[in-house]
Amino acid sequence: MGEIKQLPQNVANQISAGEVVERPASIVKELIENSIDARAENIEIRIKEGGRKLIQVKDDGHGILPEDIKAAFNRYATSKIKDIDDLYSLYSLGFRGEALASIASVAEVEMLSRHKEKENGVKIRLKGGEVIKKKPAASTIGTEVKVRDLFYNTPARYKYLKTTSTEFSHISRIVNAEAVANSEISFKLYHNNKQILSTPGNGKLKDCIYALYGAEIADNLLKIDLEDRYINLSGYIARPEQTRAGRSHELFFANGRPIYNSLAAKAVENAYSKLIDPGRKPIVFLFIKVNPILVDVNVHPTKKEVKFSRSQIIYDVIAKGVRKTLKKADPTTRIKLNSTQKKQAEQNNTTPVYEKQAFKEEGRLKNISDQKKNKSFNKSSQHRAEELQKNINYSDSNEDPKKQFSENSKKEYLINNDSAKENKIKFLAQIFNSYLLIETAEGLKIIDQHNAHERILYEKLYKEYNEKNTATQSLLIPVKIELSAEEKLLVDEYKESFKELGINFSDFGKNTILIQEVPVLLKNKSTRNIIEELIAELVEEGRSKSAAEIQKTMIEYLACRTAVKAGQPLNNQESLRIIKELFESENPYRCPHSRPVMINISKDEIEKGIGR
Ligand code: ADP
Ligand code: MG
Repeated sequence: MGEIKQLPQNVANQISAGEVVERPASIVKELIENSIDARAENIEIRIKEGGRKLIQVKDDGHGILPEDIKAAFNRYATSKIKDIDDLYSLYSLGFRGEALASIASVAEVEMLSRHKEKENGVKIRLKGGEVIKKKPAASTIGTEVKVRDLFYNTPARYKYLKTTSTEFSHISRIVNAEAVANSEISFKLYHNNKQILSTPGNGKLKDCIYALYGAEIADNLLKIDLEDRYINLSGYIARPEQTRAGRSHELFFANGRPIYNSLAAKAVENAYSKLIDPGRKPIVFLFIKVNPILVDVNVHPTKKEVKFSRSQIIYDVIAKGVRKTLKKADPTTRIKLNSTQKKQAEQNNTTPVYEKQAFKEEGRLKNISDQKKNKSFNKSSQHRAEELQKNINYSDSNEDPKKQFSENSKKEYLINNDSAKENKIKFLAQIFNSYLLIETAEGLKIIDQHNAHERILYEKLYKEYNEKNTATQSLLIPVKIELSAEEKLLVDEYKESFKELGINFSDFGKNTILIQEVPVLLKNKSTRNIIEELIAELVEEGRSKSAAEIQKTMIEYLACRTAVKAGQPLNNQESLRIIKELFESENPYRCPHSRPVMINISKDEIEKGIGR
């Protein structure tokens, strides 16, 4: 007997499941797309424990005939394509009849369906690809699929699953994108029986965006519409005042289906580039209709990235369309009076504070003197707050740094502290507004002021965090932040960690939070941006990190964003304080991201270079 054997069908299905079923979110996507294809008007998704325990998708579509229900789980069984040309058209992207077979091979699946022309439904249950039960069952018109025990027979894949919140955040991202793509369908998403999102399904894209992303984004959208020879662009893009730290709010759809395409993202970002801060990303909901000849035929249903051929045309049309839309928009920054600020201003009998939209909820920090009046303000923490403030507000000095520097430029500064006892440090100058020069017995050291300050703040924050003793200040006007469902879940999960770090917030409507207290460190900083970016960063990182690592990221992030920047002039006093505290820190030589804080040029090297 020969050695080559045919793999059994269920093993073959498990292998192909590896491509289709990467994680719970991929199952959700396949099931939702099946419901959409069945012309559902309502799709309800119920998830338990990030999909590990249950993924349930229920629709009111046309249903499946009892005689077809078993065949639906066969590999390459589909009612959607008839020949190879269909497969190569983007309109049928993803139809290969693989999804249900793949899912059923790695989980326990139960499907209950009633065809629209039948009086009764049918229920089928499969495990490991085998049908365990099939019988008539009462049902409303439509289909309900329940997936349990995911990856029970593929332990390597099971182990690969991330935390509940990470897996759920992937799911919520997919549901968001599908809901935007199909605004005529009402989507409801539940996690552990809690409703996470609900869209009206009235066919109005803006209402759908409002339901998913909140009023602040929905009220700041510009309609985009552009007809070209090969492509048609439509949808909404946000005014440049509305940005995000990551690409989570850049949504693209090709011929009605959510896609990821880095070229489209680049074209959009390019069009926004002069209008928003570097590092921030725009918010767009962009529908691209292309002639199918422009879609790379080499698409695979699970490939995240869809490729376009003649990509230059696509790039140009998108960049042009976005640029034109932004230009047409009212260029004056919209001014809005924040109602809380208005009330406050009236109480204080001062002129109302009108501000640019972008800064409107920047969060004014209470002065420490105000806090003395605050009954609930704890004395010792007030003292700590003042201490810390003295230590860290390098840039608060009223003196003109240049003036002070010239007065002091002939003076030499000596720092004597524990670690510098045998190694006297002499501060020489700040150069390029970015580096501090010091002379030590080892040689001339060039200190990167940002990295140095980051190291100092990182250690301080870490210590305070560990001792649960972070110096905080309450905000006179709380900062309102609207989050995506995904972000909201994350902040809820890490609420305690945020609190221990000094960031205290309360819920304000579904996905909105009110930041009421922040670390003293954030004084005079753009609280809102920093916290928003921190949350976006955590959502990104949350995919792969443990809780302890997440906490470390938070601390690193705050230290980095609040440290003095390169290019910031410092007076002698400020420079000296950084140098002193740097050498008092546990590791003065590396910043928290392990970049060097300083470089050293020894006297020998100088002499060699000079040729002495
Ligand atoms: P594909 O979607 O590529 O055809 P699937 O494995 O996802 O392959 O589904 C197989 C078939 O089962 C579909 O072609 C469709 O006929 C049927 N089907 C699956 N889900 C549903 C649903 N929710 N409503 C109606 N029919 C469905
Ligand atoms: Mg399918």
